[in-house]
Amino acid sequence: MQSIVGPNSNFYWIARLAKMPIPLSIRSNKLLSTAYSDLSSKGRISESTGLLLMDEAPLSGLTALASMVKKSKHSDEVFFNENLHVNTTNICVLACRFCAFRKGPRHKDAYELSIEEYLHRIEPFAEHIDEVHSVGGLHPTWTVEHYADLYRQCKQRFPHIHIKSLTAIEIKHIAERSNLSVGDVIETLKESGLDSIPGGGAEILVDSVRDRICRGKESSQEYLDIHRAAHKLHIPTNCTMLFGTVESSSDRIKHLSLLRELQDETGGFQCFVPYPFLRDKTRLPEAQLASSNEILRVISVSRLMLDNIPHIKAYRMNIGDSVAQMALSAGADDIDGTVGHEEIMHSAGSQTRLDSRQDDICRLIEDAGYTPVKRNSTYSQFERIASLATERTVLPIIEA
Ligand code: SF4
Repeated sequence: MQSIVGPNSNFYWIARLAKMPIPLSIRSNKLLSTAYSDLSSKGRISESTGLLLMDEAPLSGLTALASMVKKSKHSDEVFFNENLHVNTTNICVLACRFCAFRKGPRHKDAYELSIEEYLHRIEPFAEHIDEVHSVGGLHPTWTVEHYADLYRQCKQRFPHIHIKSLTAIEIKHIAERSNLSVGDVIETLKESGLDSIPGGGAEILVDSVRDRICRGKESSQEYLDIHRAAHKLHIPTNCTMLFGTVESSSDRIKHLSLLRELQDETGGFQCFVPYPFLRDKTRLPEAQLASSNEILRVISVSRLMLDNIPHIKAYRMNIGDSVAQMALSAGADDIDGTVGHEEIMHSAGSQTRLDSRQDDICRLIEDAGYTPVKRNSTYSQFERIASLATERTVLPIIEA
């Protein structure tokens, strides 16, 4: 794969944004015009503008502005990779209120994969994928040695596969179980084969919200400190936001602002992945939930606030293929890849299909009007790929 993406420094995208034609939906709205003017001159909007956009901006203009910023950074390209999700265990010593995945150790559906079982899961996909994404519950007895052994054996068996693994709370838990600092755990695991860290577990980085939805999890500051520690050790990470539980608009903006601040300091976040809480009858009955419009609004505002995080993902495992496709015109430039197997969102009710092949992802991107670009896990190698489809369905025109 070759790099095909041009320079993406602030200077280039701001300059490109300033030269783009401005759609009427933005020009005719004072709030959106001000946001455009701030972005195309300084490259940044304030928290107060972000809050107004979240609460008051008309959706069509908001998505148009987010789409302009996306295009100024990535033109018509949309990125995906060929990956596999393997969850290590669903046993967890915590019980976050939104979580449908965790099980107590004695639950009939509780499981923990042995290292051989883990490798066995990867085997049938190994030829096609270049990344395994692995997170799990907080296992009561596994220490850093277990994970180091897992990654070492995985690298020995599949040297070409990038290991993206462990949420911030898992790292904190492993550090406590192993009597080590967070930095020492990350360093040990890096030496054993850990390549990057996903963003899961950020939820909302406001402690009063965390107290209500995931008491006992790491604090907002700890989440940021763990990612900072990874960035210092040159481990790239992603960051996430779970919305539609009990947070306010200003909590969402505070969350985005904290991520933006850390990114100013370290530059270590690769991608931001926002996703809504999926409803069921038992968990968090007071959750406000998020409609498709709200999902697009949050993705758009994320693109506008997070001027320094290069990629915004449409997480189709959670929001489904249809909304993910619309999100590509609301500021998202990345869509999760082949995935193959997924438990966390599917335990919570996701209906997104898991048997998508590369060609399906390419068609999804092309049908939305964009160019599919296969990427590696660190966004350093790219390959434009066209879907195999040569014909599109053309609807008949009925003469009046
Ligand atoms: S979200 Fe993670 S830490 Fe919380 S209960 Fe679920 S598996 Fe455990």
